[in-house]
Amino acid sequence: MDSYSRLVERIAQSAGVSSDDIERKVEAKRAKLSGLVSKEGAAQIVGAELGVNLEKERLKIAELLPSMKRAHVCGKIVRLFPVRSYSKNGREGKVANFVLADDSGNIRVVLWDAHHISLLEAEEFKQGDSVEISNAMMRNGELHLSAFGDLKSSNEKFVNAVTETVFHEKSLKDAQPGQKLQSRAFIVQVFEPRYFEVCPQCGKKVVEQQCNAHGKVEPQRRALLNLVIDDGTGSLRSVIFGEQILKLGLNQEEVFSLELFNEKKNSLLGDEKIFSGNIRTNSLYNTTEFTIELIQEVEPEKILNEMNSRL
Ligand SMILES: [Zn+2]
Repeated sequence: MDSYSRLVERIAQSAGVSSDDIERKVEAKRAKLSGLVSKEGAAQIVGAELGVNLEKERLKIAELLPSMKRAHVCGKIVRLFPVRSYSKNGREGKVANFVLADDSGNIRVVLWDAHHISLLEAEEFKQGDSVEISNAMMRNGELHLSAFGDLKSSNEKFVNAVTETVFHEKSLKDAQPGQKLQSRAFIVQVFEPRYFEVCPQCGKKVVEQQCNAHGKVEPQRRALLNLVIDDGTGSLRSVIFGEQILKLGLNQEEVFSLELFNEKKNSLLGDEKIFSGNIRTNSLYNTTEFTIELIQEVEPEKILNEMNSRL
């Protein structure tokens, strides 16, 4: 079930009406707002009009909405990242990250509060532990917890916790920063690849053969490719890195030689693939961009089955 269907069901349950009713109200609301609001956004408005306040309820991770400011979830820590230090505007601080999972999905949780972080550092919370989080804010598809948020241990068990990244099938016109999106789309524009160098040991970007962590190294050359994809509802500027570029049907030589690339470039136009990745805001241009993490072939049988099931 996608997040919209979950949301509709949740509102329907809380309001004591049928899901069909909610969906009709959502469509009416969207029509009234000339389609300027997403289905999720319209559902939230409909929910509020019916007196359903989702921010007061404990939700499943897949039910979290991009605009929530007081989210309440429970889950298992399935991945814990090292605490990082940062300094910004002369202030020193620490930030901690982990991936929280329940049986509906998973999400990255970002901790900003020194007390919460000290609990992690003291190993009060470890990988595999269940925690309850409330008063957390959704931001760019992550759950952020400030000093106003609560983090406490939970006895709940999450045996079917979803640990792999979940991409949701969505129309490109509805793409919002923070979403993990999957789209079957055509390539409508391809730009020349750009190159950069990375450290062979840690994979991080190096400048003039110097890695911040490993000193002078023999760098490896990597490529990134910008393209525009279109699914019929809208188009989106996208970026692909490394190995995934080869899934477009290019080989290494064609990726790393502009001459060979330009010979092949036009043959990529009009190709249809299944693209999965993260929608982000490109802060340099303040545009929405799709960072593609996975490219899969369109499976004709699967599409035929889908179409037949609609007959
Ligand atoms: Zn390195």
